[in-house]
Formats: sequence, C-alpha cells, structure tokens
Amino acid sequence: MANVSRRSMLAGMAAGVAVVGFDPVQRSWVTEAQAAPPGTIALPNLDGQLVTDAPALGEASQDFGYIISRTPVAVLKPGSAQDILKLVKYANKHGIKVAGRGEAHSTYGQAQAQGGVVIDMRLLSDIGTPTASGVWVEAGATWRAVLAATTDAGLTPPVFTDYTDTTVGGTLSVGGIGGASHRHGLQIDNVLALDIVTGDGRAVTCSPTQQPLLFRSVLGGLGQFAIIVRAKLKLIAAPTHVRVFRITYTDVTRFVADQKKCALDERFSYLEGSLVADGAGGWTYQFEAAAYYKPNNPPDNAALLAGLLPGAVIEETSYTAWITRIDAQVDFLKSVGAWTIPHPWFDIFLPGSKAAAYVGDVASELTLDQTGNGPVLFYAFRRSKLTSLSFQAPNEEVCFIFDILRFTPPVPEIVAQRIAENRDLFEQARAVGGKRYPISAIPFSQVDWVQHFGIDWFVFVLQKLRFDERNVLTPGQGIFTS
Ligand SMILES: Cc1cc2nc3c(=O)[nH]c(=O)nc-3n(C[C@H](O)[C@H](O)[C@H](O)COP(=O)(O)OP(=O)(O)OC[C@H]3O[C@@H](n4cnc5c(N)ncnc54)[C@H](O)[C@@H]3O)c2cc1C
Repeated sequence: MANVSRRSMLAGMAAGVAVVGFDPVQRSWVTEAQAAPPGTIALPNLDGQLVTDAPALGEASQDFGYIISRTPVAVLKPGSAQDILKLVKYANKHGIKVAGRGEAHSTYGQAQAQGGVVIDMRLLSDIGTPTASGVWVEAGATWRAVLAATTDAGLTPPVFTDYTDTTVGGTLSVGGIGGASHRHGLQIDNVLALDIVTGDGRAVTCSPTQQPLLFRSVLGGLGQFAIIVRAKLKLIAAPTHVRVFRITYTDVTRFVADQKKCALDERFSYLEGSLVADGAGGWTYQFEAAAYYKPNNPPDNAALLAGLLPGAVIEETSYTAWITRIDAQVDFLKSVGAWTIPHPWFDIFLPGSKAAAYVGDVASELTLDQTGNGPVLFYAFRRSKLTSLSFQAPNEEVCFIFDILRFTPPVPEIVAQRIAENRDLFEQARAVGGKRYPISAIPFSQVDWVQHFGIDWFVFVLQKLRFDERNVLTPGQGIFTS
C-alpha cells in the first residue's frame, strides 16, 4: 500500500482521538479533542496517527494467549517507516515504553506495553519484487502474503512456520521454526539484511557484513534492541510438488532415533512430528516428513524410507497447499470460538540426547484434558544451522522442539493450573539442558532470563546498553525491568 493511501485511510480512522502531544506533568497524552495544557510537548508530524480510542487500546492489550492483558496509553498506526523512527525518538526522550506488535500470536503479553505505546506493525506490509537475490518486505507483511508473492515468481523463503498468518517482524524477533529447520535453520537464519530503528532512535541498515553483531542480535532478539522495519529475505527456487510420508511409532526411543537420523542426513525437505492420542489414554508418535520436488525430478521413496520404521502412509500435495495446510483446522477453531479462548502454550527446546526420556515421561502423565485437544509437536532441528546471537537452543547438534499447544476454557483456575504445569515442565526441561522458546506462556523471572542466555547474557546486556540504553523497547518480554 502506498504511503498516500495509507495516510488517507489513517486520517479517516479514529477521528477525534488522535494524539497531538504529551503532557510531561501528568505523563499522559493530549488528544486533539482536549485543550492542550501548558508545557504540552507536541508530537512530531506523522504520516499515520497515534490513537487512544478504546478499540485500538483494547486490541493492543490482548494477544493470542488471552491470559495477560496490559493496556498501552496509545497505539501508533504508522503511515511510514519514518513514523516509527519519530515515535521511538520521542519515546526515548520522554521515557515512554514502546512495543512492536505484529499479529500478537505470542501467548503471554510479549507484544504488550503497559502504559506505553504499541506500534501496529500490520500497517507496514509492502512486499518488493522477489528475485533470486532476495526480497525486501516490510515487517508487518504476513508470511502468507510473502508465500503468495514469492511463489508467483517461482521462488520461496526456505523456512515457513506451521502457521502463515504471523508477521515477518514478529517471527524474526522470536525465531520462526518449521519443518525445513533441520536443513535451513530458523526463519531468522534466512535473512539477508534488515532496516531497523534502534531503541535509542537510530535508523540503521544491518546485514551479515554491515554491523553484523547488531544484525545477529536483532534476529531472535525478542524486540530488545530495535524495531524491525523491513527485512530482506533469502529466497530459493520454489518446488511445485510435495510428497508427504507419515509413520506412526509407539516407541518414543525409536521415533527420536529416526528423527535424529533424518535431521542429520537431510534426506527430507521437511521434517516434523507430533504426539497423537491413541484413543486408550496414551500417545503415539507421528513422524511426518516431506520431499519437495518438481515433476521432472520425483523423489525415490525407497531411498527416503531406508532404515526407518516400516509402514509409511504416503500422500501427494502441492507446495502452497502444504505450507498452508493448517488453514482448514484454524478456520474450524475460529468458527467454534476456540481462537479467542486462553492458550497457555508450552514451547521448549530439548537436547537430542534427553528428548526421548523427557517426552516419554511427560507423555506418560499428559491427558487430553490438559492439552484441550491442542496439537503436541515434537521434532528435530540442527544447532549448527543457527546464526543468531540472541536465540537460545540446547548445546547439542540435534535438538528437538516440544510444544503442548493448549486450549483451555476461560476459567481462571484452570488457566492458572496449566501455567503452573508449564512452569513445572519447564524446570524439568531446564534441568536436562532444555531452553524455553520465548513465545510461550511460562512465567519467567530475571534470574530465569540470566540462566536462559547463559554465557550469551553478557553480550545481550551489552547490546541492550549500546542500542536501547533507556530500556524503551518491548517491556512485555520481562527481560529488563526499569
Ligand atoms: C497457530 C499458531 C501456530 C504457530 N506455529 C509456529 C511454528 O510452527 N513455529 C514457530 O516458530 N512459531 C509458531 N507460532 C508462534 C509464532 O511464530 C510467534 O508467536 C510469533 O511471534 C508470531 O508473530 P506475530 O506477528 O504474531 O508476533 P507478535 O506476537 O506480534 O510479536 C512477537 C514479539 O516480537 C515483538 N515484535 C513484533 N513485531 C516486531 C518488529 N517489527 N520489530 C521488533 N519487535 C517486534 C513483539 O513486541 C513481541 O515481543 C505459532 C503461533 C500460532 C498462533
């Protein structure tokens, strides 16, 4: 969307509640409907608007978790990247907290800013022309839109998460793991350059060769150092066809061994897995892998399945259908209201050597009631494919992601119980070298964060001091308090 049309759209919304300045005495915003008290600090001219209307504040105080709600004092509806720079500079000067908000699919308040300003990144969603050397996309573009734009040109980002209605800036701030991660790393490992606004209000372009430390800190940096405004994404040739292989295991040890084998030899394009209820109160382990191909070069089933547990069920689909495969399920969940109930999600990474024992133990006690029939994901990826300084994975070459994507009724006692279970399971995982995926709903103290980053904590703090010394950015992660 061009700036001009954005501007006119924004001018038409929220009339009468646009913010015109900040009252430093009351530490509150002055809207155009009020008489500005003496001393009001005027807002810089914006292409978009800073708004304080109840619907905007209400939306920005929620996320997909429906557990934590922190209300900002204003929401920036940016009309341009310049607006973000102006807002962050302004906030920096006046000690106002700022959080970028994509689709807010975090589950524990990570994109919220109590008493601060939330930037609705979705309004900056332009996608440039995809070429073999990459594509520039604005941070508010969804991965679904990126998929459409790039596959039209015969190209694709190497890694998608299971769900594509998240923003590029959102997943690049947290990680973005998917079935191609055993080959290509996470989404944060497939970025060629970033345009960012640092917490202290500088517009910077960084890349693996230009300010590389900053680049590698911002990717997976949980919004602590900068707002990602645009990203240049790596692209590879898009396949057209996908052959899917599913194998059901009853033995977690064998499942983990086969996952490890396939993660290391990279025989599949995609490798995931999950726990599936066996109908008798227990769980089976579903191995799910796929070979991406073009019709002139079909995969060799026998070679792909060699050495794995026999009994694969094979299915053919198209690349786009595969990447968007959970859409029908999501539509159904939305239609029955399950998208807007609490989601106390548990997401961790496990060292490969401990994965079978840990998940076997968890599965022996996990009930469908505790999952709310949400998916339980469990699959391997490779540490040597990771490039971020901020993203934390266990210290082994083959790691596993383990997620219990819980859905619970909106009953505070049940939600509290699930959160307590998450904390308990996290502590058991940490004791064997596991790490939290910070999108999850697991209570975390400052001490937990220090342990989370381990020897990287020093660099993380140093980068914070260099680029967001006043601790303006992304308070919802709860890493730095002040
Ligand atoms: C159904 C579903 C399936 C999912 N599947 C996967 C999966 O397969 N793999 C996976 O890795 N994740 C998965 N996720 C989690 C998802 O990737 C993360 O929650 C991600 O953060 C969502 O992006 P978002 O745009 O909603 O980010 P938000 O939740 O809006 O933001 C995440 C964090 O980044 C900050 N932020 C947002 N935008 C910016 C920006 N431009 N600059 C700086 N900071 C910013 C926010 O303040 C917040 O702290 C799934 C989530 C859902 C709901």
